Amino acid sequence: MSVTRALESAVSAVSADVLRRQDPELADILLGEADRQATTLQLVAAENFTSPAVLAALGSPLANKYAEGYPGARHHGGCEIVDVAERIAVERAKALFGADHANVQSHSGSSAVLAAYAALLRPGDTVLALGLPYGGHLTHGSPANFSGRWFDFVGYGVDAETGLIDRDQVRTLARTHRPKAIVCGSIAYPRHIDYGFFREVADEVGAYLIADAAHPIGLVAGGAAPNPVPYADIVCATTHKVLRGPRGGMLLCGSDLAERVDRAVFPFTQGGAQMHTIAAKAVAFGEAATPAFSAYAHQVVANARVLAAGLAAEGLVVTTGGTDTHLVTADPAPLGVDGRTARGLLAAAGMVLDCCALPHADVRGLRLGTAAVTTQGMGEAEMARIAALFGAALRQESGILDEVRELAGRFPPYPPMGGVS
Ligand SMILES: *Cc1c(COP(=O)(O)O)cnc(C)c1O
Repeated sequence: MSVTRALESAVSAVSADVLRRQDPELADILLGEADRQATTLQLVAAENFTSPAVLAALGSPLANKYAEGYPGARHHGGCEIVDVAERIAVERAKALFGADHANVQSHSGSSAVLAAYAALLRPGDTVLALGLPYGGHLTHGSPANFSGRWFDFVGYGVDAETGLIDRDQVRTLARTHRPKAIVCGSIAYPRHIDYGFFREVADEVGAYLIADAAHPIGLVAGGAAPNPVPYADIVCATTHKVLRGPRGGMLLCGSDLAERVDRAVFPFTQGGAQMHTIAAKAVAFGEAATPAFSAYAHQVVANARVLAAGLAAEGLVVTTGGTDTHLVTADPAPLGVDGRTARGLLAAAGMVLDCCALPHADVRGLRLGTAAVTTQGMGEAEMARIAALFGAALRQESGILDEVRELAGRFPPYPPMGGVS
C-alpha cells in the first residue's frame, strides 16, 4: 500500500483535489504535514490522531454558520440544524462523564479554564494550583498569562524524591492562604490525581475545586482513569488529547453552576460558537462511548507502562518510577545528555516529543505520551521497540531514523479506505 495513497485518503478524497486545483502551494503543505505525521513517531503527550469522521465534520459547511448563544436561544437566524448538533454534543458529553451539565463551546482548553475562573472568581482572588515548575499549565498562574496577571496564584509542588503531589504542602498552603479556588491538574503529572483528597481540602477551607483534566479526560471517557466530575465544582478539559476529538475545550459541572458556566463562556469570554468543531466534538464523544474506545484507553495506559519500563531499562530516570496514564516524564542525564539536547537527538531520529520540568532537578527533562501511537495500532511490543530506539538515538548510534520510519510505516494513522485498520 502506498503511503501517499493513505495520506490522500487522510486529507480526504474530497478536499485534496479541490485544494490542489485552487492552491497547490497549500495542498503541498497539507500533504507534507500528513507525511511528517505518518513517517515519524508522534510522542508529544498532548497529541493524537482524530478519526476520518471527526476530520469530515471539521471540514464541513458547518464552519460557515454563525451561532452566538445556545441552542434555542441564538442571536442569529438559521440555527435550527446546528442547534441539534450542539444538543447532541452536550447530551453525549453529559452521558459520557456522568455530568449534570456540559458546555461544549470553549475554543480550547485554555478558554475553558478562563471560563471556569470567570464563573467562580473575581480579579484579585487567591487561587491555589500546581506551580508551573512542577507541571502546572500556563493558565495556572503564569505571569505571562491572564491567570497570573488577574489572580493571586499560590503554587503547590511535588515531592523532589517521589515526584508525587506534596499533600501536606497542599493542605498547609490552603489553610494559610484560604484560596477562593483550588486547581488540580497538570501538563506533566504521570499519576492519577486523588480528586477526593483535593475535595476534602477545598471543603475544609471553603474553596471551589476546579479540576483541569485536559490530559486525562480521554482516559476517563474510556474508564481507564478516575472521573473528577463527582468531586470538582467545575471540570475543564480539552477534546483533542487522549479523547481524540477536534482541537477544542469543554466544561462539565453540576446544575447549580450551569448558568454561570454558560454565561462565562458566552458572552463573557467568547463570541460565536464554532459549529463545525462542536459537531466534530459530538462525533468524538460518540466514538468515545464505544467498547472499542474503552479498549483503546486501557491500551494507551498499558503501552505507557511498557514504554516507561523500557526507558528505565535504557538508563533514563523515569519520574515517579512509572505511570498510571498515557504520560511519561524522564530525565536523560544518566546517558550524558540534558533534556533539550535529547529532544534534538530524538527529533533527528524521527521521534517527536517535548521537554518538561523535572521535580528532582533544575534541568529540563523529556515528556512523552502514547495516545497517538496507540491510535495507530501499536501495542506493547512496539513500545519496547520504541524504548530501545530511544536509547540508541540518545547514544547517537547510526541508522535509527530508518528504523523509526520502518516502524511508523507499518502503522499508518489513516489507512486507505477499506484497508487494514
Ligand atoms: C493542554 C492543557 C490546557 C490547554 O489546552 P489548549 O487547548 O492548548 O489551550 C490547559 N490545561 C492543561 C492542564 C493542559 O494540559
